[in-house]
Amino acid sequence: MSRPTEILIDLDALIHNCRLAKSLSGPGNIVAVVKADGYGHGAADIALKIEPEVSMFAVSCMEEAISLRKQGVSLPLLLLEGCFSLEEYNLAARQNIQLVIHNVDQANCLLEQTLDAQLKIWLKVDSGMHRLGVLPEDVNEVFGLLVASHNVSDVVLMTHLASADETSSDFTVKQLKRFAKVIDNLKVTHAKSFETSIANSAGLLAWEEALGDWNRPGIMLYGLTPLDVDTAHSAKLKPVMTFRSEVIALREIQAGESVGYGNTWTASRPTQIATLAVGYGDGYPRTAKTGTPVLINGQRCPLVGRVSMDMICVDVTHLGQVNIGDSAELWGKNLHANEVAACAGTIGYELVTRMPKRTKRKFIG
Ligand SMILES: *Cc1c(COP(=O)(O)O)cnc(C)c1O
Repeated sequence: MSRPTEILIDLDALIHNCRLAKSLSGPGNIVAVVKADGYGHGAADIALKIEPEVSMFAVSCMEEAISLRKQGVSLPLLLLEGCFSLEEYNLAARQNIQLVIHNVDQANCLLEQTLDAQLKIWLKVDSGMHRLGVLPEDVNEVFGLLVASHNVSDVVLMTHLASADETSSDFTVKQLKRFAKVIDNLKVTHAKSFETSIANSAGLLAWEEALGDWNRPGIMLYGLTPLDVDTAHSAKLKPVMTFRSEVIALREIQAGESVGYGNTWTASRPTQIATLAVGYGDGYPRTAKTGTPVLINGQRCPLVGRVSMDMICVDVTHLGQVNIGDSAELWGKNLHANEVAACAGTIGYELVTRMPKRTKRKFIG
């Protein structure tokens, strides 16, 4: 018998979420974001499953793109941070990989080379996030250089939303206005037509104005909502990852006894404690506070005391009959990763993305 700690990846839920993204995208195409190993779900398995549903995939860098190619993914790929070295431009051209150009240096690197094939470029505009992107006042010039280059076949104009998850924030409106102004200026200066791309998952779920020719959902494909409130659309998402383990020990402790490292939690009444074979070494966040929900046999129980490397303890007093070998869900189908994340001072994105190799992945569906 092996240690029962694993993540189940529900590929039917993935397809369901992907189709939801597609329906919200209208006539726009879907670029499925599978960076960081598919947000911890397994980039190649995810990509191969949804390849018939989407138009292309986005990753952060060349290493991630080449890994997908090696595992048989054939749709066009997009490097969200562009190239990091000169050699990567030709590799991209040969491997049907498209590039984000997010600053003038990257544009110059591309323009100086003679490539084996032409590249489709995604020119990123900084509409207010101030992380990556060419400043609005420089877009006309960089766009002109790119479209004139023999290395470039097409240019997509893209930007990224900083606060689209905050459904009542007016910052998204401000970004959309800035981007629209850039597009209007380009149309005046350059006769050449171009496509646009703005929306991430939050854009697709909550900002119809952000839809473009290409939409870039990530987290929603994995069934987690990025939004600060549930909406009719976000309520339809189905979590893809379920993180589970089992009870490996049970004990009854008296009032006044403590549990775990540092004795940080003390029982106020006789308490039944279940120990689970999962800890921060398996991807469960050490910052999860006492009270973080865990499902034992489908019922909510509070985490008590500190998270250890390989174990956590939960209070199962109210459950009645609990046995060694009973099933525990840390997050997934029945317990939203965002809820657990909130108890650990983080977000669902981080929980699913930072799962360690140690935790075996099982694909179902
Ligand atoms: C990661 C990323 C996305 C996807 O974001 P989600 O919030 O996961 O949907 C889209 N666009 C860019 C540029 C990204 O870096």
